[in-house]
Amino acid sequence: MLHLQNFLNGTFSPPISGNYLPNIKPATGEVFSQIPDSEEQDVQAAVEAAKAAFPAWAGLPAEKRGRYLVRLSELIDQNLERLAEAETMDNGKPLSLAKTVDIPRASSNMHFFGTGIQHFASEAHMMEGVAVNYTVRKPLGVVACISPWNLPLYLFTWKIAPALAAGNCVVAKPSEITPYTAHLLAELCVEAELPAGVLNIVHGTGPKVGAALVEHPDVKAISFTGGTQTGKTIARTAAPMFKKLSLELGGKNATVIFADCDFEKTVAGAVQAAFANQGQICLCGSRILVERSLYDKFKEAFLQRVQTLTLGDPLQPDTKMGALVSEAHLQKVLSYIELAKEEGGTLLTGGERVHLEGRCANGYFLQPTVFENLPHNCRTNTEEIFGPVVTLQPFDTEEEALAYANITEYGLAASVWTQDVTRAHRVSHALQAGIVWVNTWLLRDLRTPFGGTKQSGVGREGGWEALRFFTEQQNVCIKI
Ligand code: NAD
Repeated sequence: MLHLQNFLNGTFSPPISGNYLPNIKPATGEVFSQIPDSEEQDVQAAVEAAKAAFPAWAGLPAEKRGRYLVRLSELIDQNLERLAEAETMDNGKPLSLAKTVDIPRASSNMHFFGTGIQHFASEAHMMEGVAVNYTVRKPLGVVACISPWNLPLYLFTWKIAPALAAGNCVVAKPSEITPYTAHLLAELCVEAELPAGVLNIVHGTGPKVGAALVEHPDVKAISFTGGTQTGKTIARTAAPMFKKLSLELGGKNATVIFADCDFEKTVAGAVQAAFANQGQICLCGSRILVERSLYDKFKEAFLQRVQTLTLGDPLQPDTKMGALVSEAHLQKVLSYIELAKEEGGTLLTGGERVHLEGRCANGYFLQPTVFENLPHNCRTNTEEIFGPVVTLQPFDTEEEALAYANITEYGLAASVWTQDVTRAHRVSHALQAGIVWVNTWLLRDLRTPFGGTKQSGVGREGGWEALRFFTEQQNVCIKI
């Protein structure tokens, strides 16, 4: 049995309490590792280590800090297979997805910010003949990065990389449900000879470790990705302490399909947006709005494609749908399927837990599920389910499509499928979402601002936005 450890001040340390939590493989239901059930004292030790490391790390030239991150990126590439297998074991996602998306993206995050920091320039404002202002951007000190279970190493590094590049020292907390690749990243930090205390990783639950980090007076900023309710709890503690906060929260995203779309590409895109990672991506398009004249044709082609998605052992190369992350999450998603039926929805396909043969007999598998005939404002259509459950909804006019798309309290992402370029712009601008894709989904350029409006969060990550978040401005005005 694997015993994961906290990573404090450059060394692997057991939790001070000596207590561990079981960590389960979702594809089989087996416990495969024990993770530290850390507490406030572990967080205290991590913050102390980060504080001690901060002056030297912040004092390094950006280019030198960046080199450590580029080295980590190379090590992630070299360990692609091992990291992808660990991610699949921990999360239940298809190995093919971990190999082509999760781990390569973790490497890109390190490389992008490791090189990007060298191009991060100060602003200057001239007052002609009177003065010159220039703006220094200083690292904040010790910052916290708290990440969820759906894209474990991908999102963990998405936060850590800009924080470190900007000169901060980090105490990071991965999800207790998927901690394994964070542990492996710590091993790579040792190999990269990252100075001790620059990155500290504390494992454990949100209410113990996450809350202790948010409450710690020496933690100057919190970058959090997770559920909207958790985001509210964090904001309640952090706001009166005047901590910087970046909150990337839930979504209930619309896929808006017009009759003039490129049909085949749209059907393929809508299926991918609905069911990638078993529908457990904050950006997944779980409400598919289709112009009425195309509705029946789309429905038929969509269902046909959904029914051919290969659900199975995540280690098999042809598997497109793996396991949901946990028994508790599976039960939550199943309860939404019951709710959809109670709300009057017509089940078009799926809806059942799947018991596979062999190694995965006790895994948490669920058929891709599609409903129609649900009211636009019902709970199924407005609450985040975060699983392979989507609804089809017809619309008659562009105004109606926008009204349905914007009906939820979330505002993370949307996709629009049309060949009419004017409509593409018009609809994109009218959608209440931080990210809109046209004729594509989840195509990411790491320079672009990433984040949501409404209950989907506060602030933006990515590119300069992330480096700005992890720095404090100081303006210096010099009289000429
Ligand atoms: P979660 O909110 O339960 O947990 C996220 C992290 O916060 C975990 O590490 C958890 O241990 C920690 N945490 C829990 N309680 C805490 C507390 N009181 N104080 C501090 N930390 C605490 O979310 P989850 O179930 O792991 O992830 C799924 C959610 O994440 C979904 O709502 C999804 O939409 C969202 N998500 C959003 C984005 C985005 O970029 N907007 C990306 C991925 C996932």
